[in-house]
This record gives sequence, C-alpha cells and structure tokens, in this order.
Amino acid sequence: RQEQYRALRPVDPVTRDGVPVTLQMNAGLLVDLPQLEESGASGVGLFRTELQFMIASTMPKVDEQEQFYRSALRQAKGKPITFRALDIGGDKVIPYFRAAHEENPALGWRAMRLALDRPGILRMQLRALLRATAGGELKLMFPMVTEISEFRAARALVNKEVNHLSRFGYDLPRKLELGAMLEVPSLMWQLDELMKEADFVSVGSNDLFQFAMASDRGNVRVSNRFDPLGRTFLRILRQIVTASDAAGTPLTLCGELAGRPLTAMALIGLGFRSISMSPAGIGPVKSMLLALDAGKLAQMLLPALEDDEPEFTVRELLTDFA
Ligand code: PEP
Ligand code: MG
Repeated sequence: RQEQYRALRPVDPVTRDGVPVTLQMNAGLLVDLPQLEESGASGVGLFRTELQFMIASTMPKVDEQEQFYRSALRQAKGKPITFRALDIGGDKVIPYFRAAHEENPALGWRAMRLALDRPGILRMQLRALLRATAGGELKLMFPMVTEISEFRAARALVNKEVNHLSRFGYDLPRKLELGAMLEVPSLMWQLDELMKEADFVSVGSNDLFQFAMASDRGNVRVSNRFDPLGRTFLRILRQIVTASDAAGTPLTLCGELAGRPLTAMALIGLGFRSISMSPAGIGPVKSMLLALDAGKLAQMLLPALEDDEPEFTVRELLTDFA
C-alpha cells in the first residue's frame, strides 16, 4: 500500500470525471514539514501555530517566532502554508499561560476571545508572521470566530501591525489573505457576511461537529455517538458549500473528516474542492479520488440529504457507492 501511494505522488488529484481537488496537509511543527514532499500534498492547509507555544517553556519572543515561521516556509520549498493564528484553550493547553479554572473550557476563554482581550500576544504573532513573509505571501486564518465582529477586529489588528511595520521601514508581504475558520455554529447564521468579508473560509470540522452536536470531541462516550456522515451534519456542510459558491469565496475543510477516504468522498460529493488532512491521509484519499465519479456521487448524495423518510443511512449509501 505504502509503495502504491508513493507512486501516486506525482499524479494530480483529479477525479475520474475530471474534477480537480486540492489536497493539502495539516502541520504544526518543523518536523512535520518533510511530509510535504513524502505525501505529495500541495501545501499546508492548516499550520497549527499553537504547537510551537505548547512545547516551549516560556512565551516565544517575536524574533523566535519570526525565525520559526521563516524556517517553516523555507522547508516548504515554495508550497503555500496557511497559518492559523494562536488557538489556545480548550483541548490546547499552554503550560506557562495560566488561565483561571473553567467549568467548560471548550466554551471558555480561548482562541479569538483570548486574543482579542489580550491583543499583545496576537500582535506579537502577527508582527512575526508579517516579517517572516516580507516580499512573499501571507495566508493567515483565525480560529473559533463566533461573530463576524471578531473577524473584523482581527483584520483591524493586522492592519495596525502592517502600518506599524511600514512606518519603521520593514518590507511587507506582497500579498495578504485573511481567512476565518468556520467551527462555531453561530457563524451559520452569518454566512453571507462571512463569505463577503473573508478572503477564504476554512471549515474546522472537528470543532464544528463538537459544537453542532454538543458532544465533547475528547470524550469517547459521546464523541462517537453521532455520525458526521449523518444527514444533520452533512446538511450543515452543504449549506456552507452553497454559500461559498454563491459568493465565490475559496473554501476548504481541515478537520479529521478530510483524511479518510469514505468521509473525504462525502465532502467531494457535497461540493468541497479543497481539503487539508494529516499527511498519512493524502495517499489513500488521492487513490479514492482517482477512481471517483464526482458527478455521479453528487447525484446520489444531494437528494439523499433531503430524504425525510430514509430507508438507509447516508453512511450506508456512501459505503454502497464506494
Ligand atoms: C478543527 O477544529 O476541525 C480543526 C481543524 O482545528 P483543531 O482540530 O486544531 O481544533
Ligand atoms: Mg478547531
């Protein structure tokens, strides 16, 4: 199998009926980056920057952060990296950053909430990212956006840093794209504004599923209780694809769903054309894609989502199709 996947590395990910799909990988540390070449991923679709903070014993300084991002870009050898701004809190604990005990850390003071309340930390990171990508491209997304106002506030902070750096004579990135992660269900009711304002949107399906189903992603008693391939969650995802198509806003999905052939196939059937996964998923997912008739799949899947007296689960239908 490994040999077979290796042989697929130079093959473009295009379905049998000619639909190109972008396959990127998730990463967070420099040791992950050689996987770009080994897996054949076309870039890093999710760079979890908090991992560098989680393994450090003190808060990394701006210069250290800048060096780290530079090294990551250098090791990516021209393949694009989508950085995610610090996503601290919930399941992502930073030892030297002690927050008060919380009853519900997943719903607590984390990610953008923390970043906007303590903008100094985010501004240091933004400065490091802007410096590391001077003359090039910076693709950056913000986690756990709950209201569009948070995305606006984040963009304003970026603009502030851009002005600050240019006032001090630093080179700036040639191109700057700011995206929002869609992983909190409240954004489902702000989809049009979101698609209009964000340069791209990335679905964090791990958290979106956890919050949509009110099931702790880390608690096995409930995390497997509901099926992400059930009609409920797939309808949510379909709605996102429809809004992104209507607005022409680039869309990607970077949760665990992207990394297994059956669930990745479902995403293609829903209309996703870009997904990001752990490197080990690239080979198996590409091999699925090459054999897939995406048009036929959509013809089967989309009506099945609306079936209100279903005889079969969508998982059964997809398995049968596969
Ligand atoms: C997600 O929530 O789906 C995601 C990609 O981010 P993380 O798993 O790091 O929360
Ligand atoms: Mg998440």
